[in-house]
Amino acid sequence: MSEVKPIVKNPNPVLRQKAKLVPPKKISEEEFTEIIGNMKSTLNATPNGIGLAAPQIGHSWRIFIVKIPEYEGVFINPEIMDIGKRTTLLEEGCLSVTDTYGPVARPKTIKIKALNEQGLPFKVRAKGLLARVIQHEIDHLDGTLFIDKAEKTYRVERQNQITGNE
Ligand SMILES: [Zn+2]
Repeated sequence: MSEVKPIVKNPNPVLRQKAKLVPPKKISEEEFTEIIGNMKSTLNATPNGIGLAAPQIGHSWRIFIVKIPEYEGVFINPEIMDIGKRTTLLEEGCLSVTDTYGPVARPKTIKIKALNEQGLPFKVRAKGLLARVIQHEIDHLDGTLFIDKAEKTYRVERQNQITGNE
């Protein structure tokens, strides 16, 4: 049974830990199917959330999920294979950093490999919003928050997690 979990907020120390690799043989075990199910339920319950990393519900494992119109998926043990040289500045926010936004420069494109929920490897070459979300979520797995990289931050009370266009 999947549950909606409270989202861990900054400055909870779990957000600053380097998350552990998931043992591939354990991906199909209940511990991980439950974490992933809870991540999906939690993100689905967040109207404008577009990505969620396991530390954001308190689990220091290298898992994140993405849910945007053009892509939905689960990424386990992601590894960056290639990252573009050209960067773009785009406003970000984070479900773990309440009402705070700011422009972050990141590469426009990224290629990563990861394991899916069945423990099978896959690769994604991403640009645009997907590349942005993937980089934001991988940062979570390394204990980095967007506020560490933002050129500036400001407080705005609204719901969007990430907005803007290239
Ligand atoms: Zn975030």
